Amino acid sequence: MSVTAQLEAVRRTLPAGVQLVAVSKTHPLEAIEEAYAAGQRHFGESRPQELYAKYEALPRDIRWHMIGHLQTNKVRLIAPFVAMIESVDSPRLAETIQREALRCGRTIDVLLEIHVASEASKTGWNYDDLLAYVRSGAFVQLPNLRVRGVMGIATNTEDETVVRRDFEALRTAFETLRPAFDAAFDTLSMGMSDDYPLAVACGSTSVRVGSLIFGARDYGPR
Ligand SMILES: *Cc1c(COP(=O)(O)O)cnc(C)c1O
Repeated sequence: MSVTAQLEAVRRTLPAGVQLVAVSKTHPLEAIEEAYAAGQRHFGESRPQELYAKYEALPRDIRWHMIGHLQTNKVRLIAPFVAMIESVDSPRLAETIQREALRCGRTIDVLLEIHVASEASKTGWNYDDLLAYVRSGAFVQLPNLRVRGVMGIATNTEDETVVRRDFEALRTAFETLRPAFDAAFDTLSMGMSDDYPLAVACGSTSVRVGSLIFGARDYGPR
């Protein structure tokens, strides 16, 4: 099936109000252009250099989401244009984004990535550490970050009970943190190609779907 057909098939399964971020990492410009022609505007990438190169080459109204682990020394490359950094997972990264956003006169939308999966390798904040950081008032010192919500990746397993447990943990984290922020805190980003219907059933407001739209790739968490 074509990218257009796959994209439309995924869209048909999403309830109104759930955003689709098309994860285009490793895929060529032509694949993104096809999705763009089909009306897709939100795209996700996980490597800063690749994200930058695609931003340079493609239409300026694309909303680029950084979804992969971000090293602090790469923030400067993407700060001028990135629409959302979904993978904020440490005080140091949050503080670096603050500095770089200020430098380019922007307020950058971010999500707080929380580690819920059973695999040790997955990135994200330890929930208790994040809660302590938020409750310390740290975000008052980071006015150029607009905290939009929470992001997470479920355990990579066929066992639906485990995946559901992970999504429910993210949902609880989202609801618990929400009162600490303003009304812009409205996004619960969870669900990928293999598990997004369950994520939506558990309250996801934004899904990150790659291989189901663009086909298999050589790298990535799955
Ligand atoms: C690669 C990636 C996705 C998309 O994965 P698919 O299984 O191809 O849908 C979603 N979220 C993150 C954080 C990723 O790195």
